[in-house]
Amino acid sequence: MSQNVLASASGVAVQASRRRTFAVISHPDAGKSTMTEALALHARVIGQAGAVHGKGDRRGVVSDWMAMEQQRGISVTSAALQFSYRDTVINLLDTPGHADFSEDTYRVLTAVDSAVMLLDAAKGLEPQTLKLFEVCRQRGIPVMTFINKWDRPGHDALALMDEIEQRIGLKPTPLTWPVGIAGQFQGVIDRRTGTFVRMERSPGGADLAIEEEMDPAEAAKRYGADWDTATEELDLLAMTGADHDQETFLAATSTPVLFGAAVANLGVRQLLNILVELAPPPAARPTAAGTDQPVDAAFSGFVFKMQANMNRAHRDQVAFMRICSGRFERGMIVTHAGTGKPFATKYAQQIFGQGRDTIDEAYPGDVVGLVNATALGIGDTLHVGERVQFPPLPSFPPEHFAVARTSDTSTFKRFRRGIEQLDGEGVVQVLRSEQRGDQAPVFAAVGPMQFEVAAFRLETEFGVKVQLDHLPYEVAARTDEAGREILRTESNVEVMTRVRDGALLAVFPHRWRMRTVAGRHPELRLDT
Ligand code: GDP
Repeated sequence: MSQNVLASASGVAVQASRRRTFAVISHPDAGKSTMTEALALHARVIGQAGAVHGKGDRRGVVSDWMAMEQQRGISVTSAALQFSYRDTVINLLDTPGHADFSEDTYRVLTAVDSAVMLLDAAKGLEPQTLKLFEVCRQRGIPVMTFINKWDRPGHDALALMDEIEQRIGLKPTPLTWPVGIAGQFQGVIDRRTGTFVRMERSPGGADLAIEEEMDPAEAAKRYGADWDTATEELDLLAMTGADHDQETFLAATSTPVLFGAAVANLGVRQLLNILVELAPPPAARPTAAGTDQPVDAAFSGFVFKMQANMNRAHRDQVAFMRICSGRFERGMIVTHAGTGKPFATKYAQQIFGQGRDTIDEAYPGDVVGLVNATALGIGDTLHVGERVQFPPLPSFPPEHFAVARTSDTSTFKRFRRGIEQLDGEGVVQVLRSEQRGDQAPVFAAVGPMQFEVAAFRLETEFGVKVQLDHLPYEVAARTDEAGREILRTESNVEVMTRVRDGALLAVFPHRWRMRTVAGRHPELRLDT
């Protein structure tokens, strides 16, 4: 009976309002793993909802997980780290982004309610950050900014604010402001309260930082010129109206900014605080039918990532599902919206790196790993009760292309099956080209590592050795049948059919080549 009470709509609404589901967007080396560890450290200190670390083992989950990736040469998972902080349940979804930057990285952003843009103070906005930010912009995801590595020399704080505003058109609204230039970090002034928080790396550095409020008059005396500079900069910010505005933040046109150093846990607590105080909880999700699925409706969720054979010993296939509405209970029988077939959720797990915990219940915003999910594919909706279906996940424009061939014709059937599997999981997009024929499908990917992953998996899981020949294309645009005909008259361009959805993609060696061709044929449809 008590479970029924929990399952009540108001219970679900309360649970949803306690959730914050976000991802960190950054360029490799900006400090994402360090930040994840720093957050996990807080989780360990304050008690955690999902077991993450081996107790007392600071190296913990993040590094283990990378070791496994390196050893296996493939991306293991994009999973969720869950912990509680101030009565809020925080789900941090991992955005794989090192060597294996891929569509998976983008797709994670379909499952979050907000994002933290992590910038290296010495580098500012970098290419991968820009790409990920673009997806956030397209999806209207509110973005908080954390300027990392303030403990060592970097750009000027105001210059970084300018860069954000000029290059991505997001209005930075710093919530804290550093006292001391990058490399001489003394602490931050909280712009909303005017208080100064002195920050110091704890001795040894591997633990929570020392943070203490200090009387501004005393801080002024102690930090002299650094203090004066900071207050002058604050006056400038006040004049330009760079104050936090919740409405524009939620509309994804302004970004609250914090300064810190993840490696020493400086500023990480403030990040947690703004996640709790400002970041949006799960909201009603638009359905394919054009309605909104409120969080307190019956259970629904969608699959944003598939991962086969995570666990060699079990040869399993895990579907990562983000819950959109209702209460999920392990063992419940849900309906697969695509086929109308029932799906049993006996093996529901919370997965992060090598750690797996059985999940018994979960709420909107949470991520559940469904094991043995061979019947599921990316973008699939699961629900109970009245049918609901969420729109298919977007396909992201590939930038790398390669022809796949197997010289051994006896393995051709397995080659086909393997390719279907990889396409279904979204490891690569599979394209067919008229010229090349069925025997030589083209793999397309957002990141080149995906080719290696695909080849590795075809060999180890399907026993098929493939040869991949990179094609000299970098840009793809959607076109139509008329476009295909027009493009036959042009050189250095091919039109291919994406197997997954039948879309026609025109591929070009460079953006300028695409522009030239488009300029010559004004009637040509090309959508990037
Ligand atoms: P990722 O590639 O974004 O996951 O970056 P990592 O977390 O692996 O960090 C890259 C490097 O930057 C590592 O050597 C970290 O120790 C270092 N690093 C991360 N955060 C900070 C920071 O706040 N200050 C300094 N000085 N180094 C940092």
